[in-house]
Amino acid sequence: MATAISVRGLSKHFGEVRAVDGLDLDIADGEFFSMLGPSGSGKTTVLRLIAGFEEPTAGRIMLGGEDVTRRPPFARDVNTVFQDYAIFPHLSVRQNVEYGLRVKKVPGAERRRRADEALATVRLEGYAERRPHQLSGGQRQRVALARALVNRPQVLLLDEPLGALDLKLRREMQIELKEIQRDVGITFVFVTHDQEEALTMSDRIAVFNEGRIEQLASPVELYERPASAFVAGFVGSSNLLEGDVARDLVGDPGPFVIRPEKLQLLAEDPHLPGGIAAAGVVREVVYLGASTMSVVELDAGPTVTVSHQNSDTSIDAAVERRDQRVVVSWRRDHLVSLGSPDPAASPEEETA
Ligand code: ATP
Repeated sequence: MATAISVRGLSKHFGEVRAVDGLDLDIADGEFFSMLGPSGSGKTTVLRLIAGFEEPTAGRIMLGGEDVTRRPPFARDVNTVFQDYAIFPHLSVRQNVEYGLRVKKVPGAERRRRADEALATVRLEGYAERRPHQLSGGQRQRVALARALVNRPQVLLLDEPLGALDLKLRREMQIELKEIQRDVGITFVFVTHDQEEALTMSDRIAVFNEGRIEQLASPVELYERPASAFVAGFVGSSNLLEGDVARDLVGDPGPFVIRPEKLQLLAEDPHLPGGIAAAGVVREVVYLGASTMSVVELDAGPTVTVSHQNSDTSIDAAVERRDQRVVVSWRRDHLVSLGSPDPAASPEEETA
């Protein structure tokens, strides 16, 4: 598949801060690519570098095979959708969507046709005459999206576009945004610090940490085979077993991670063939609606979190386990070894 965006040795330093630190990255045509990471890890700076709003300290950026590193934003075939939408309050929805075409002097009839097409894509037919204040947050967000799509860019850059929406709307928009991306076939580069959002929508995710990519993989790979403790902790929650504890329980010093839903809470030692069991005391039980989370202090030392669905257990039974002795068991093949991460996935050593 053709490459939409290639980045080589890209760095951006603000004084002492290495916001982006020697990044290499290839994003395929038509891919839904997410950049995920904690606040300050450099995601937005990468997006701004691709858009041309920042000049790199070092490195190159290629769009559709052309070097655009020194080109101004308007000479790059990308559009950006920001969290605060920046739609004009005094213009109607259609006028907002047409705005970019008007600036480019596209004739009126074509402008209108393309605006209506973009509004249909984001499922806002029938809203063309409204003003932004007559729309919900999710609808305003879709106007911002239509305004970017109407330019038919090769690449759409989205910086936390759902950040201002409440959780329910945000989840609906995640599914819609993914559908829209599939319909239009444009490459989406999506910045978020919300791991669930990235897992829901992306073809691939780059997990950022201090200006570098810690792991780049599909959602399933990232969740099932995190390459480092940082990724395991940032994408979902996980339990870490290492050193003497891991040697005692697993027969190998690790480090290993295991997801809370892969652990089972039992009243007594199950003697599972091929399984591992560790005794401990339940210290905390947290009810989360669909699931319950129990925090167990193992006799071997570490504290682990166990998650179980509430489909066949009652919360009362779970709460009764507080301060009780239990056995935590798991299958050996559910342990993820962090001992030998995939070298292709780890960031390259700095050469400069
Ligand atoms: P967030 O999720 O909070 O938006 P982020 O991962 O997008 O964070 P960036 O905004 O890219 O992170 O910032 C990376 C680092 O660069 C941070 O330490 C930030 O303070 C610094 N930084 C970003 N822009 C500037 C600037 N214009 N001047 C100085 N430092 C900056």
